[in-house]
Amino acid sequence: MVAKTVPVDPFDLIVFGGTGDLARRKLLPALFHRFMARQVPDDALIIGAARGKMTRKAFQAHTIDALEEFVAEDERPKDKVKTFVAMVDYATVDAMSDLGWDALVKRLKGREDRPRAFYLSVAPRFFGPICDRLGANDLVTAATRLVVEKPLGRDYESALALNAQLAASFDESQLYRIDHYLGKETVQNLMALRFGNALFEPLWNSKFIDHVQITAAESVAVGSRGGYYDQNGAMRDMVQNHMMQLLCLTAMEPPSHFDPGAVRDEKLKVLKALSPITETDVEDHVIRGQYAAGRKGPGYVEEAGDPNSRTECFIALKVEIDNWRWAGAPFYLRTGKRLAARHTEIAIRFKDAPHSIFDSGVAGMKGNALVITLQPNEGIQLRLNIKDPGPGGMRIVSAPLDMSFAKDLGREVRMPDAYERLLMDVIRGDQTLFMRGDEVEAAWAWIDPIIKACEGGKATPVSYAQGSDGPMESHILLHQDGRRWRDIE
Ligand code: NAD
Repeated sequence: MVAKTVPVDPFDLIVFGGTGDLARRKLLPALFHRFMARQVPDDALIIGAARGKMTRKAFQAHTIDALEEFVAEDERPKDKVKTFVAMVDYATVDAMSDLGWDALVKRLKGREDRPRAFYLSVAPRFFGPICDRLGANDLVTAATRLVVEKPLGRDYESALALNAQLAASFDESQLYRIDHYLGKETVQNLMALRFGNALFEPLWNSKFIDHVQITAAESVAVGSRGGYYDQNGAMRDMVQNHMMQLLCLTAMEPPSHFDPGAVRDEKLKVLKALSPITETDVEDHVIRGQYAAGRKGPGYVEEAGDPNSRTECFIALKVEIDNWRWAGAPFYLRTGKRLAARHTEIAIRFKDAPHSIFDSGVAGMKGNALVITLQPNEGIQLRLNIKDPGPGGMRIVSAPLDMSFAKDLGREVRMPDAYERLLMDVIRGDQTLFMRGDEVEAAWAWIDPIIKACEGGKATPVSYAQGSDGPMESHILLHQDGRRWRDIE
């Protein structure tokens, strides 16, 4: 079986912040991979736009550098790189003044019929000014899309203000708010698994599921980004966006269609059904942590440059969803820096068998677990209880049923980066895997009181050892419910 790639229409993509880190590490390599897969036609136009003066040639050289650094050598034949960079152009444009806008208007004149995408790969303070200038310069055509990425606000009020700012120049149907977790193959596979098979859906509720664990662990420290990170913390950096999105996809009702309206309506219903965590019960639901100094390096507060910092670089939450499907089956979320390993997964822990007919007893039989791993190695595993092989009686052991599928599909597939899928969706005009404005607002509306309670002195960060699974208090959060975290490995 051969991977099916449907080419997109010739398009114009203007990347504001085209010389920045995100463009270099992710966007340019992703576009190149799609070009290699013959999905990006060779009359596409990719314009890097930034304030710095640079010639087209210099930006093409910058693009080649990026590909050499972030695309494997055997995946970038020289002639293909040459054809690709011929599509790349550069525009000096200042978000905050009129510098360069006339030239950009001229460059795009006569191309109004093509899909046009503006990707704002710049700091969020530039979002408003760029949108205003796109509007004022008549650059927003009927086929224009605008792509923005986190941070989408830092609380409910600022998220509302940002949405209003975007809405001044763009219709919601033109807005693509990226959460790159949604572009991951396994996350989409979670939906295929749930809604493409009759097997799981009847079990997908608190009658059969004991609880869900969502873990996003990083082994790296905040390092030199400590000062910047300290203004946000794990709650804003990871929970409000990525982890809430994973929770929504796991918990949502089956949408009537796999289309933007239906999928996003169902995700929004989940966000609205989240049980509020109030100031009085925040300490029963939220554990915050900071890594201590250790052999691997300084502690969080030293890296943050503030010995009195109360910002969390680890957080564990117990989240309840107030609806029929999930009442009684909590979602436990945890994310943090400087943990035992870099590992992101969603683990659906089914209930134990009610009674064991085997001598080893129920204790020997763990409840089944469906584990969807997002990184480092994307894959899906179902843990089943089977007979320990051998003639020695009926012993039950837990074994994984691996669903990596690559071999079964008859091809070794390179796992495409999330940005590849998402960029092509932008050009195709498919918003299904992007967040709608009301979703972002609903997530902040639920998170805001927790952040306020924490900033008011609740759930003070506790210390944890570098390279560990997080603070002891996070383990106690589950122990008191008779549950335990899966190991981070
Ligand atoms: P960066 O600092 O590396 O690049 C910023 C870009 O903005 C540069 O190209 C710079 O020339 C341009 N710029 C600065 N001032 C400008 C102005 N006045 N007018 C026009 N262009 C101007 O930043 P980055 O890491 O690429 O991140 C960009 C955005 O994407 C940020 O909002 C960041 O939070 C978000 N983001 C980045 C990553 C990542 O992996 N780097 C991941 C998720 C989200």
